[in-house]
Amino acid sequence: MGVPLPSYPECAATVYDYASRLFLGAKRTESVALGDAPGRVLARPVRADRDMPAFPRSTRDGYALRASEASAWLSIAGSIRAGDPAAAPLASGSAWEIMTGAAVPEEADAVAMLEHVETAQTGMDGTRVRLTAGRKLEPGENVVPTAAEARAGDELIPAGTRLGAAQIAAAATCGYAAVELFARPRVAILTTGDELVPVDVKPGPGQIRNSNGPMLAALVTRAGGESWLLPAVRDERASMELALRSALDADLLLISGGVSAGKFDLVEPALAELGAVFHFTGVRMQPGKPLVFGDLPVAGGRLPFFGHPGNPISTAATFLLFAAPVLRALIGLQAMAPQFTVARLARDVHGKPNLTRFIPARETCGALPGEMPSVSPVPWQGSGDLAAFARANCFLVVPEGVDHLAAGETATILPI
Ligand code: AMP
Ligand code: MG
Repeated sequence: MGVPLPSYPECAATVYDYASRLFLGAKRTESVALGDAPGRVLARPVRADRDMPAFPRSTRDGYALRASEASAWLSIAGSIRAGDPAAAPLASGSAWEIMTGAAVPEEADAVAMLEHVETAQTGMDGTRVRLTAGRKLEPGENVVPTAAEARAGDELIPAGTRLGAAQIAAAATCGYAAVELFARPRVAILTTGDELVPVDVKPGPGQIRNSNGPMLAALVTRAGGESWLLPAVRDERASMELALRSALDADLLLISGGVSAGKFDLVEPALAELGAVFHFTGVRMQPGKPLVFGDLPVAGGRLPFFGHPGNPISTAATFLLFAAPVLRALIGLQAMAPQFTVARLARDVHGKPNLTRFIPARETCGALPGEMPSVSPVPWQGSGDLAAFARANCFLVVPEGVDHLAAGETATILPI
């Protein structure tokens, strides 16, 4: 039978190593309105455009005063609202009423919370205020000094960060109406198979609808790529080569079907004809064993490709395990393994000799905070069973060499 197939960990290492080198490569960038930036990756750092805060900021509603005078009755100089320009410096023996977010006047070194003071009408000059007996106030309390958070020009968000809500807020506060992002990599999706008809066509005898196209497009979009869904190709050598040639200006090429050992599995020879280098042509895993990974010579360098086995569950597993980390590097994120997590097995599961298993399963969150989720395989008829797959939300991993995992044990899972 020739050379034995590499294991799942070996192939994963090959792919992550390849992805780390892609991560370091030059990438296109584009300016994107802040509202369209969530989930995308920053190409140029976001910097503070002024000191943060730009003025000493009160963090409470209360009275700005000198901490050393706080226990004495103080006259009230006036009121400062958030948004007011700097008030006059604080005179000794007085306090400014102040609101949360307002600028603390010069000479005041603390803000006494409204809840911690008492006021009194004292004779001619109106209301006075002091710290309630027994309360303490340290200098600096309830005031964020100018530039305590960041100085003008400081880098707040480094390039290579995926922008979530927190980073969007930081960019907004620094005046970034638009941010410079890595352009979305273009991912060509090429499905193969004589049996395939498009989603909106009624399958004839022996035909099935092309579900891998939309599924891969969904996986690509969710991972931050721009999916480029090509028309399905027939299992015919010339059409296959033509279709592959039409995809050569993509950043990543995903092919589904045609990589098994069958008579009409023509993807590998067609790729070879175009000068492909194969990094592996099979993995000791199930499902997904026939997975092919390599790259093609193209005008600007090399185009990485994956030839996914056509069974939908195999396609999904091999995308998540191998193509997703490559896509991650192409969108500008440091290459790393997929985000495996753990869950408690609700049922016994079995391994298979000489294979890592990825079993479609359903993870259910615990009812209590901190409780470990539980996971149970979904009953399935094999890797073409989309009815079962629709009930799954993760793959349950049974590593090679593990014969059996018992209910109650902690298992590794990969969210779908
Ligand atoms: P293959 O890898 O081409 O031998 O295909 C393996 C199985 O996956 C066959 O049962 C195919 O009909 C099925 N299959 C291949 N491509 C697709 C697709 N795009 N959508 C749904 N099923 C597919
Ligand atoms: Mg096929």
